[in-house]
Amino acid sequence: MPQELSRSDVESLTRHHRWLEPVPAALQLRHAALRQREFTRLVAVWWPLLLAAFVAFIGFTVWLYAGELHGRDRVVFAASELVSVTAGMIGLALAFRPGWQASHERWLPWTFGTIVAAKLAAATLMTSRSLAVNEVHMAVLVTIVGALGLHLGVRAVARGCAIGALGLLAAWWSPTPEAAWLAGGHYGLTAAVCLFVAAVRQDKDRMAFYQSVLLDMERQEVQRLNQELGELARRDGLTGLANRRAFDEALALEWDRARRTGRPLALLMVDVDHFKAYNDHFGHPAGDTCLVRLAEALSAVVRRPGDQAARYGGEEFTVLLPDTDEAGAEATARRLTEEVDRLALPHPKSSAGRHVSVSIGVAVARPDGQMARDNLVDRADAALYAAKHGGRHRHVLWSEADAPPVR
Ligand code: GH3
Ligand code: MG
Ligand code: MG
Repeated sequence: MPQELSRSDVESLTRHHRWLEPVPAALQLRHAALRQREFTRLVAVWWPLLLAAFVAFIGFTVWLYAGELHGRDRVVFAASELVSVTAGMIGLALAFRPGWQASHERWLPWTFGTIVAAKLAAATLMTSRSLAVNEVHMAVLVTIVGALGLHLGVRAVARGCAIGALGLLAAWWSPTPEAAWLAGGHYGLTAAVCLFVAAVRQDKDRMAFYQSVLLDMERQEVQRLNQELGELARRDGLTGLANRRAFDEALALEWDRARRTGRPLALLMVDVDHFKAYNDHFGHPAGDTCLVRLAEALSAVVRRPGDQAARYGGEEFTVLLPDTDEAGAEATARRLTEEVDRLALPHPKSSAGRHVSVSIGVAVARPDGQMARDNLVDRADAALYAAKHGGRHRHVLWSEADAPPVR
């Protein structure tokens, strides 16, 4: 697996031109996929044009040079057309196969190189000058289309041009050395221009590619930060528990879910006993530390994925327990009381014991059409009030006797 690139790595790629350097290994797959997409799009546009150009060229040559197409030239022309039409058709067939589209930079130079070689060889072997010029024109056209029209990389263009140049070897058997010079000269210039243009364009394409990679990286970073921000906005800064806003959201969500499923929803309202006195005795920073320890105790009792412990405000906490009935909610309240007792944080000013303790109001709702969401909070609050009045350091399960507020 190639090493991931950092943003500054990619930024440095966009700062310098790298004419012949390959795309870094970490980006090669992505770059290849982009190149394949581009090639597929180009093929869709080009194939009717290429086919029409082939047919038009043969028709045009036969029509224009019918008088000169005889003897040796006729054989040479037919042979070069046979080779180029075969290569062209094979190329066209491969261009539509996804597996071959991916590797087009490897095989396409052979296709257009073979056609160019056939045309150049024909040009050097023909006795008719106008026919030879006609073939050279075709070779030049195919080079331009193959190298530039199909957006090949500079290496592929160089390979295709080199393969095409092999056609010039036919000059050994050329009836007129002039034809070889004509073909070689025109072709050499065309290939040089194509190579130059391909190199400039490859560099430009790569820069655009690196910019798009950078843009993607930035987009991902923004997404990550947004997510982090969203999480931070739902966390309590002191205890790290869910905050009031997250509690409100979770309650709304679970309430709706409970209504749909008809399952009970339990809420524990937890309040620290005589916390004002604790602060007054030990100081506010010690009070903060105490809240952090209590938050740990709360976290320890929420076990299921849907459960949520939150800081409701000040020294009040909530525990939301979806799909939990009265027995389950009371068991959780008992466990929480035990956890807090286990902390054994000294509280000399408490009337409820020698250590920091909590009072818990427990309410369970089976949401139906009549009950409002806030009723659950009110009931837990009323039960908490009852727990305080009952002597603190205990939990109370809401009952009708706790006078539910009417909404
Ligand atoms: P009770 O047993 O009836 O609940 O008495 P209490 O003293 O706990 O209740 P009261 O509402 O009178 O006092 C709550 C105290 O909690 C007062 C406030 O200073 C303290 N408090 C609220 N938020 C924080 C906090 O973030 N840090 C600290 N250290 N104290 C806090
Ligand atoms: Mg309070
Ligand atoms: Mg309190």
